[in-house]
Amino acid sequence: MIKLLVATTNPGKFAEVKDFLRQLPLEVLSLSDLATWPKIIEDGATFEENALKKARSLAEYSGYLTLADDSGLEVDALNGAPGIYSARYCGEEGNDKKNNEKLMHELREISEEKRTGRFVCALALCAPKSHGMKEWTVRDSCEGRISFELKGENGFGYDPLFFYPSLGKTFGEIDRAIKATVSHRGKALKKLAEMLPSLVDLNAKP
Ligand code: IMP
Repeated sequence: MIKLLVATTNPGKFAEVKDFLRQLPLEVLSLSDLATWPKIIEDGATFEENALKKARSLAEYSGYLTLADDSGLEVDALNGAPGIYSARYCGEEGNDKKNNEKLMHELREISEEKRTGRFVCALALCAPKSHGMKEWTVRDSCEGRISFELKGENGFGYDPLFFYPSLGKTFGEIDRAIKATVSHRGKALKKLAEMLPSLVDLNAKP
């Protein structure tokens, strides 16, 4: 069976990706299945560039078909910030609490109707040289509004501040399975899972 490496060590993200690909004849691996892997600096100018950089480097390193993602939050009143810098908006990598505090502070004078924004997810799929050296990207997004205060304990990152109007709740207040049906990442993964059989010969010898 063809192996697909998912460029993450996050068990939650890995489980979500695996779930979207479960109908396909693929053996899905995470970075934790490799003994070592190179550290990749995300210095691209777009979500797609960052996702491609990760997928390319790890596909060449591992020899496996590789899927990587890059995602973030774009806020209209901040001209698209934090965008590709979402994980380190507060100046410290991956500090969700401080990132949310900074976002609430920056938007403190912005009225409810102007607090629009979206989560964006770009996925990159790369086939290494041994599989014909090809690459594809897919993007999707999820529109919402930034709340004045944190609500809910679920999810991660900006979820407790991201109000999703048609459910009347923040992503922090809905469970993972429901989030996956409407989120940027869920929609992009669904697109990619549908395209995959036409991109790669899944019956080829690994
Ligand atoms: P990454 O693409 O997983 O590295 O995510 C970049 C950053 O964007 C995360 O650290 C979060 O701050 C934010 N982010 C991306 N997707 C989500 C999401 O689904 N919920 C909340 N925050 C997210």
